[in-house]
Amino acid sequence: MPRLTPIAIVLFAGVTAFAGPKKTPRANNMPRGFAWPPSRAMKAAAQACEAQLDTLGVAWQAAQPAGHMVDPIELTTGQLGGITYVPVYAKTLPAMDCQLALALATLAPRLYDAGVREVHVGSTYRWSNVRVGGKTLPMLSRHALGLAMDVVSFVDDTGREAVVAKDYKAGDELLLAVERTVNDSTAFRTVLTPKNDPKSHHDHFHLEANPDYTEPTS
Ligand SMILES: [Zn+2]
Repeated sequence: MPRLTPIAIVLFAGVTAFAGPKKTPRANNMPRGFAWPPSRAMKAAAQACEAQLDTLGVAWQAAQPAGHMVDPIELTTGQLGGITYVPVYAKTLPAMDCQLALALATLAPRLYDAGVREVHVGSTYRWSNVRVGGKTLPMLSRHALGLAMDVVSFVDDTGREAVVAKDYKAGDELLLAVERTVNDSTAFRTVLTPKNDPKSHHDHFHLEANPDYTEPTS
């Protein structure tokens, strides 16, 4: 795919500028060490992930296999760390990979402290390519891995709903706090927003977990 490289460089150069060197772009957009079908290390990581969800007290159950989800799960109560995840378009919260649930669970105390009580979810798993800058790129989106979540709004502890499509550009404090919190976390890649991708993310935040499936050296 050499002819695509300039697009990717332009795209990711803008994104990485916000977050510093820890958010290194990936040429194929897949997590480090990702393979399909899943490697032994990835299956081990999935088992460890489930154990961590249990340790954190997250209510979850296995979901139907789909796409390239290594470990598809559903949040049975829709809750993570005192924050409720509400489906906007579907009747139930769509499936996600365990690694996304774990990343969100890890982030939950900081989101809660920022005032977040509800996250209104447009989608998680879906079989799709990367869409950014108004273009669909010929590389698989992390939605197809169940590692990404599109969020259309957040509700705070007073019940106020901050809608990405209309409140982000006005400098909404809750939305900016969420953006900062996600970008400060190594469990996530840089959140895509109306600011860094106005063409394809004008009406939602794209949150994306960043697991590392590289085989442990020890
Ligand atoms: Zn997305």
